[in-house]
Amino acid sequence: MADFRAMTAVEVIEALRQSAPTLILLHKRPDADAVGSALALRLWLEAMGSPACCICADEMPEHLAFLGAGLQESLLITAVPAGFEGARIIAVDTASPAQAGELVPELEARVSLMIDHHGTGTPFADHYILPSAAASGEIVLALIRASDVAVTPRMATLLYAAISADTGCFRYSNTTTATHLAAAFLVERGIDTAEINRQLYEAKSLSLLTAEKAGFERLHFYESGRIAILTFPYALQQQLGLKDEHLGTLVDVARCVYGVEIAAAIRETATPGVYRVSMRANVDFDVAAVAARFGGGGHTRAAGATLTADDAERAEAMILEALLQAER
Ligand code: 5GP
Ligand code: MN
Repeated sequence: MADFRAMTAVEVIEALRQSAPTLILLHKRPDADAVGSALALRLWLEAMGSPACCICADEMPEHLAFLGAGLQESLLITAVPAGFEGARIIAVDTASPAQAGELVPELEARVSLMIDHHGTGTPFADHYILPSAAASGEIVLALIRASDVAVTPRMATLLYAAISADTGCFRYSNTTTATHLAAAFLVERGIDTAEINRQLYEAKSLSLLTAEKAGFERLHFYESGRIAILTFPYALQQQLGLKDEHLGTLVDVARCVYGVEIAAAIRETATPGVYRVSMRANVDFDVAAVAARFGGGGHTRAAGATLTADDAERAEAMILEALLQAER
């Protein structure tokens, strides 16, 4: 495997000061950290003289449209946009090639820099990875500030949303002093934090609520209620008319129950026998290590993986067994 190098902040800023058309790649099933970080990165590069465009293997989810409004409604490109043929490519919030997804195929191999905060992953380019950062948005903000480019209210809105989202509105254990200081700096730029957090946490589509309702009905508890797992068959997703983006927060249905320490949501994909697993820990337990056993990864308390199993019961048994083994 090629050897990729860890870069310093100074090197990253120097590299990005060189103006060149730039494609910013974010992971499939994009979340607010990916979208917010990528769009802020785009505005920063544009301020330094580089035309930039964000690309993703999936469309902008409906609930994040407020972040892209007026900037970039669509993230999914099916062909390289005009003027970006030989563009440099930067990946953000994307820990491994599998997370990039089925993008215009030749792009992935051309990534020249990764900016990320995932501790477990497979670097696929020279990188600037800070696992201590709560969100990729925290890293992008620090880079912009160190570059002496002004952080505009627009950038601040994007970065605040990124940081708020990955910390569950500053509730999760990844929230540090640095996270709060970053947020305070962003609030000083005059942003509407109440509206951003309302969009992220309070406004839910009926489809999302439908997914949660079905999720609650499918919860299974183990180990006296310390472990909660739910499975979501693809047939049910189709029957309820739900898109993938409506199922991304199902694991919160499992993790919010009183007494639950470890939660998992397993959803069948359109490919029979292939399941997406999301895991969360409410206690000091490394779900990323469990995800890594299935070729996935993430953070200590939030991780994911893709696995193959004969059916949903088998997938649930595999995850339960892996969690119990890791606890021993
Ligand atoms: P989620 O459960 O929300 O899909 O993912 C939780 C965390 O784990 C996120 O930070 C995400 O980037 C990471 N993650 C999810 N799936 C994978 C995967 O397949 N591989 C790796 N390396 N990380 C993942
Ligand atoms: Mn992130």
